[in-house]
Amino acid sequence: MLISGGTLIDGTGSNPKPNEGILIEGNQITAIGKDAIKVLNNHEDKEIVVIDASEKTVMPGLIDSHLHCSFDDVQSNDELFFHRDPTLVALIAAQNLRKMLRAGVTSFVDPDTSHGIGPALRDAVNAGVVQGPRIKTGVQALLTAVGGTAGRLIPDEGTVGYAQIVNSKDEIVKWVRRHIKYGADWIKLHATGSIPGRSGELMVWNREEIRAACQTAHELSVPVMAHCRGTESVRICAEEGVDLILHASFMDDDGLEAVIANGASICPTFTFLANLADFGSKVQASSGMEDIFRGEIEQTAKMIRKAYDSGVRILSGSESGFALTPYGHWHARELEIFVNYLDLTPVEAITTATKNGAWAMQMENDLGTIETEKFADIIIVDSDPTSDITVLNDKSRIVEVISDGKKLNLDDLWPDHGPLPGWKVGNWAGEILTWEKAYE
Ligand SMILES: [Zn+2]
Repeated sequence: MLISGGTLIDGTGSNPKPNEGILIEGNQITAIGKDAIKVLNNHEDKEIVVIDASEKTVMPGLIDSHLHCSFDDVQSNDELFFHRDPTLVALIAAQNLRKMLRAGVTSFVDPDTSHGIGPALRDAVNAGVVQGPRIKTGVQALLTAVGGTAGRLIPDEGTVGYAQIVNSKDEIVKWVRRHIKYGADWIKLHATGSIPGRSGELMVWNREEIRAACQTAHELSVPVMAHCRGTESVRICAEEGVDLILHASFMDDDGLEAVIANGASICPTFTFLANLADFGSKVQASSGMEDIFRGEIEQTAKMIRKAYDSGVRILSGSESGFALTPYGHWHARELEIFVNYLDLTPVEAITTATKNGAWAMQMENDLGTIETEKFADIIIVDSDPTSDITVLNDKSRIVEVISDGKKLNLDDLWPDHGPLPGWKVGNWAGEILTWEKAYE
């Protein structure tokens, strides 16, 4: 396959340049530019599919470093934890994977999955049983009995939904090892959580517990990410070895210093907050949080910019899987926020969802940029994202998706299904906030 013409954004952070040609053989990019044309000329005997990208933008498929593929656009904690049969969770997740492909997402990282289905779903995609993006996944999130963001809904011990409760260092060590045995690519800790009646999220793990989780995972060469929505949590998690900080809300200078000193990366995941702040009223989301969330974004964004300037790896994550962040609609919204609040250039923002995402996929040598010998995960956009980054959320502009060297039939990638008994009970929002609804 040869992609000819158009403008190439290669995902490395270099400036856009004219695309002479990208040659794909099997699932690999084998030649770029004049070399691609040369190889093409020497292959006259073979049939080569030529995709004309003139006037369009050619770029790597998007890598979403934080989404929840098994949550199915949940509207409430009730729905998320208590109403869903594991078999159906897996079947519906398999369907939703195709929506992500349609939106140009060719890889994603999922920290934690309902009933721990992540590794099985990943293996099914890898074996060609179901169609989907490349997946790196955790099993379930490790929560202390404080209960993450669901408080008393979460039992004092055992497992529910995407959560595994751990109550001691021994349990932490035991469950980290078990999750790795079950196929975890990442271990996820819920370092902060909320308690009804207390403001903000509190640190719900102590330092020794975080250290125990990181040591155990690292001994088995598995990285650790942590949900950190509080100043102290960022610093302590970075100091104790957490590789990827999610949210990093209210990070201060000491926290940033710890992140830099320990080589941690950050996936801010502003999208959920921004969607609620900007569009929550369109879907009857719980009101009163708009200004709080906007304030959190503004305050945190300043520190994320500082982190970016200090060379910290910043990743793009959409938190897709909730009613406010449905699959296939918002995977590039984070890039828009990076441009608007962090003052990144569109090319710099794109790098967070390409080259940097490949790190979270633990596939830096194979993914994230358009270079020879990398996997052919490429999208063609009928617009210029460097003049308007928001076009990357507009599926009508994403005119080709090439995943693992195969050109996908985009018409097949937006499946639907009828109502399922007991599946939807929601109350987070009265409707799904689609991108179209937001701008109607
Ligand atoms: Zn999340």
